[in-house]
Amino acid sequence: MSSSPLLPLTVRLLAELPALKADPQMALLRELQVLPPDEAAEVALQVLENMDEATGVLAGMVCAEEVRQHGKAGQLARLQAARQRVPTFSGLRDWRGDVDGAIAALEALAKKRCRCASVRANNTAPVPPMFVELSSNSANYVEVMQVRCALCGREYTVERDDSYHYPIFTWR
Ligand SMILES: [Zn+2]
Repeated sequence: MSSSPLLPLTVRLLAELPALKADPQMALLRELQVLPPDEAAEVALQVLENMDEATGVLAGMVCAEEVRQHGKAGQLARLQAARQRVPTFSGLRDWRGDVDGAIAALEALAKKRCRCASVRANNTAPVPPMFVELSSNSANYVEVMQVRCALCGREYTVERDDSYHYPIFTWR
């Protein structure tokens, strides 16, 4: 259970998401983005702590990404506890890997490292605004990108392989 009272948007998301189809769900979840980053991360963490099957996998993934980008090291224990309870859902890939990515980001922060180290370790997508794409070359379903972390300036080479049902990223 949450260690703090639920924020108003958390209450609304948990109440309204189960009744919505994907597009209106996404529109509602975008309200996270207009909150200050700290508050958005707290709402997202609260949703992960309190979600069930009806909340939906889309909400879980969006909230995991929000915590990955804006969560704080002090939220790590709560996120790890939520990871044990979030619903599994069926799908081509286990969405809980997104929660693992967020956990890795908060672990990196707890070790005073940049959260980009966790994205590299988890081989997830180099998404803006955290990563800036410097260049890109494609051949045979494989795109090789040069990206830079907007937080610390470190540059990475990332391969995106589109020959599967969903893109596979490999960080060099
Ligand atoms: Zn970085």
